[in-house]
Amino acid sequence: MAVKGKSHWPILAGLGAGVVLGLAARSGLPAATLEWLVSSVAQPLGQVFLRIVFMAVVPLVPSALVLGVAEIGDVGKVGRVGLRTLLYTLVFSGAAVLLGVGLTNLVRPGEGLPEAARAELQARFSGGAAVGTAVSNAGKAKGTAQALTDLIPKNPLAEAVNAFEGGLIPLMVFSLALGAALAAMDDETTKPLKDLLRALQGAMLKIIGFAMTLAPVGVAGLVFSVTATAGLDVVGMLAKYVALVLGALTLHAVVVYGGALKFFARRDPVEFLKGSSGVLMTAFATSSSSATLPLTLQAAREELKIPRAVGDFVLTVGATANQNGTALYEGVTVLFLAQFFGVHLSLGQQVTVVLYSVMAGVGTAGVPGGSLPLIVVVLQNIGVPGEAIGIILGVDRVLDMSRTVVNVAGDMVIAACVGAAEEPAT
Ligand code: ASP
Repeated sequence: MAVKGKSHWPILAGLGAGVVLGLAARSGLPAATLEWLVSSVAQPLGQVFLRIVFMAVVPLVPSALVLGVAEIGDVGKVGRVGLRTLLYTLVFSGAAVLLGVGLTNLVRPGEGLPEAARAELQARFSGGAAVGTAVSNAGKAKGTAQALTDLIPKNPLAEAVNAFEGGLIPLMVFSLALGAALAAMDDETTKPLKDLLRALQGAMLKIIGFAMTLAPVGVAGLVFSVTATAGLDVVGMLAKYVALVLGALTLHAVVVYGGALKFFARRDPVEFLKGSSGVLMTAFATSSSSATLPLTLQAAREELKIPRAVGDFVLTVGATANQNGTALYEGVTVLFLAQFFGVHLSLGQQVTVVLYSVMAGVGTAGVPGGSLPLIVVVLQNIGVPGEAIGIILGVDRVLDMSRTVVNVAGDMVIAACVGAAEEPAT
């Protein structure tokens, strides 16, 4: 979601206004007036904003994923470098998500809301339908073999129509297949389709950009509804959630990146950090892997002395296709919101979230807020209302800046590891 650099302050102000006004209204207004304010003013304001985001999701997700896979596949054509890149991407993203999901299960930042407040929030956000029904129904109705078979769609268009009711994952599987098919064909034949998908992806990000101009008001409305209903508890839970994401990102960078640098790239992690500090600061400031790419390429060559051919490939592809920080963040966020809404996720469902988050790391555009549309859809698919994303949107900017740092660092670490394998240290 293209949240431009300058626009995070108004959104943060929207969050602050929502919290303060929600708490004030909760303690100062009669119940009937409060109910009217929430259901007739605050909720519709939030809804308008979210619906504009939602309408871009179905075209956006397949186009981004097809392009992501096609690009990794293109690198696959250059053989070893491509394969190693793919392997590192999958292992790093998998480790990131498992770390995030594991810590969220341990810390449980979304739990602790009084039952009555939770029930009220569930009813508000899901238009009265029981949250989690989709999950429990799906769990009851299908055996594992059937559920796995159903991941392969008979009709991708029908899945697209039902994307918000469980069709997204099969649609993503189709997108993976299409991306792989494009990568296996010659460039001249596939170029028109890739150009079309690139234009479609760009246009959808634009629509989301339009929505973001309404974000301060939308976020204020959504947060007002939540705090007016659930009180101060929500603020504490949000603080825990932010701390958890930041802690998990740091742990991933230190353990996984530090370990990979030491053992696979045979480099000193501290030196590496020094050489890439300018790039990482730019990633933090812009919240965009793609905007940081020119600097990343330059630093890889000049500061980090990564072989040019390897660096150019790995970093260009990685800017969109390797997003470990995003994958980690998606896993934590989906679980946090499920906890918040009291949706119990079985082990199988958590595995789905993990797989989904790894895919999201590949399919997310390297722009500010690029991962938010994907969260909406996975939430819907596991039975949490997509509107729940409004709860975290106000604090997303700082998390976006931080996960982008981890995304870009991951690209450079992979480039260094693949580079070391190609040109053993002298
Ligand atoms: N802002 C991230 C990036 O550009 C993507 C995201 O997680 O929203 O790397």
